[in-house]
Amino acid sequence: MGRIVGIDLGTTNSVLAVLEAGRPVVVANAEGQRTTPSVVGFSRDQELLVGQAARRQLVLNPRNTFANLKRLIGRLWQDLDEASQAVPYTIRANDLDQVRVLCPATEREYAPEELVASLLRKLVDDAAVYLGEPVEAAVITVPAYFDDAQRQATRDAGRLAGLRVERILNEPTAAALAYGLDRQRSQLVLVFDLGGGTFDVSILRIASGVFDVKATSGDTQLGGNDFDQRIVDWLAEGFQQTHGLDLRRDRQALQRLLDAAEKAKQELSGTQQTLISLPFIATGAAGPLHLETSLDRSTFEGLCPDLLDRLLRPVQAALRDAGLAPEDIDEVVMVGGSSRMPMVQQLVRTLVPRDPCQSVNPDEVVAIGAAVQAGILTGELRDLMLNDVTPLSVGLETIGGVMKVIIPRNTPIPVRRSDTFSTSEPNQSSVEIHVLQGERQMAADNKSLGRFRLAGIPPAPRGVPQVQVSFDVDANGILQVSAMDRTTGRRQSVTVQGSSNLSQDEIDKLLAEAASKAEDDRRRRLLVDRRNRAQTLLAQGERRLRDASLELGPYGAERQQRAVETAMADLRDSIEEGDDRSIERYAGQLEEALYGLNRRLSAERRGNDGNGPLGAPLQGLRNTLGTLRDELFAEDDWEDDWDRPAAQERGRRRERPADDPWGRF
Ligand code: ADP
Ligand code: MG
Repeated sequence: MGRIVGIDLGTTNSVLAVLEAGRPVVVANAEGQRTTPSVVGFSRDQELLVGQAARRQLVLNPRNTFANLKRLIGRLWQDLDEASQAVPYTIRANDLDQVRVLCPATEREYAPEELVASLLRKLVDDAAVYLGEPVEAAVITVPAYFDDAQRQATRDAGRLAGLRVERILNEPTAAALAYGLDRQRSQLVLVFDLGGGTFDVSILRIASGVFDVKATSGDTQLGGNDFDQRIVDWLAEGFQQTHGLDLRRDRQALQRLLDAAEKAKQELSGTQQTLISLPFIATGAAGPLHLETSLDRSTFEGLCPDLLDRLLRPVQAALRDAGLAPEDIDEVVMVGGSSRMPMVQQLVRTLVPRDPCQSVNPDEVVAIGAAVQAGILTGELRDLMLNDVTPLSVGLETIGGVMKVIIPRNTPIPVRRSDTFSTSEPNQSSVEIHVLQGERQMAADNKSLGRFRLAGIPPAPRGVPQVQVSFDVDANGILQVSAMDRTTGRRQSVTVQGSSNLSQDEIDKLLAEAASKAEDDRRRRLLVDRRNRAQTLLAQGERRLRDASLELGPYGAERQQRAVETAMADLRDSIEEGDDRSIERYAGQLEEALYGLNRRLSAERRGNDGNGPLGAPLQGLRNTLGTLRDELFAEDDWEDDWDRPAAQERGRRRERPADDPWGRF
């Protein structure tokens, strides 16, 4: 099995980790950052931007910049709460009630999976440069509390990014894997993961390499964003009282408010008070208006009591489901950026009488765990075993709209369970199987995962036919359902295609489109690269000519110097004319000419080491020039192909600036 990377695909930030020599390490992206903002956008001229580049244009180009996509993935419009709908870009429901993201720059609408795929693509492309090999497979983490449709959508995003998704792994389980990797002592661990948009709690028993998830609970629509929103509302309402203007109605102002609110929130984790200043936030009758205020921690905490309350129930539910009392927990592992908020830490202390563990990095631990899981799958890490559970009950709708649970929540996975059902009418020839997920009694209150029909049941009085329905939940937490008529042996099996998911046809179409676009993109990038490369070569040529005339005199290596000059002139002309073919040709010629000149220079230097034809008196001067030359190259030697030993190639690639044309495929 080839290499598998681990990806923490966060609402706010994503992180990629790999195993190197059996140890998990986080891989920095092309910008040199260990976390990549989960933001995708398009510039005004339709260029795809991912990560920091997209984040930078959030304020200036809010309609074409998409953050918090994870809150949308795998969900129907009707599933979205108000906070998830209130994004600065445009989302809408299509005919099937699926969520679509509108992008004015490209005049297209996207399924959230497609945009998430671009993010995954960037993460693995950057990792491929670091690893020096293509990345084709990944373990991707999801909130433990993600339902079937959300898991499938995440897997689809991976497929759209051209990846084999070897495992969908629960985030808190991943965190526990990372935490427990080097700990032998048997203990009960509660993982509390509050990120930007989701909240997860899991309880695990860790004992010498065996990780047993006991229970999991959470809220997939609760995270740091909700706390930001409280500050946004507080700011906007204050402003409205003074100026009679609702800033939330202006996309750009809203995005600036969101930015300022998040910054203020983060600062309040360390200080008691923070200043918020947004000059020129709007224009009133009398000219520009500014927002200037201060927020203290207690006011902020006073804005969010109900959000804190929503953290209580999942913790208590997980403890109850695991059959444990709070005192039984040996360690609390806090994960996710929002777990840094003092009010959150305080709340956790009142729930579990332990000081939270400080030894894990809340931003990276999930990706590290994903890399560990990847190592288990490839066999690189032995003696580790992971037993996870289903987060939510699955079952089907029976007579009277009641949900009959087939696999209760917190059942260890993979698992297969079946039950037998019958008809409710005489001579009923088919039954509809409506698959549901959730904890409510009535079918209508739970998430519908899909419906299918088993037909061809022979005529019989009601209650006589026997239809056996089987549910399989695999290690990814993804469900497959089959039904069999016991009398005829007729069988119907489906991977429940959530109504919020892309169909196989749509996925194939998008993949084909991506492949054809990739060719276009590649060609365009090749052109840009070629021109950049030509410019770099020209700069190099100038430096070498300068060296040559300093070291050898103006005509010291006349043939080689002239060759470089001619090739440079030709290359300049072809760049001016914009003729890509001749750019390629003359760049090649210039490379060759430079090679010749370089050889001549180094031969000259070797020959002149103390006893060359120029004799001793000039030696001091030549050495000075040599040093000068070394300094010149040291400054920008990443663009210098000549002096770089091949062995340094890989190490160097990691450090290249993002806009370096040579560092890209
Ligand atoms: P996700 O897993 O959802 O991508 P992260 O774990 O990266 O999320 O956490 C991102 C969230 O954490 C954001 O809402 C961010 O504002 C919040 N956050 C980061 N640092 C702090 C801090 N010091 N105090 C409060 N919140 C923080
Ligand atoms: Mg996270």
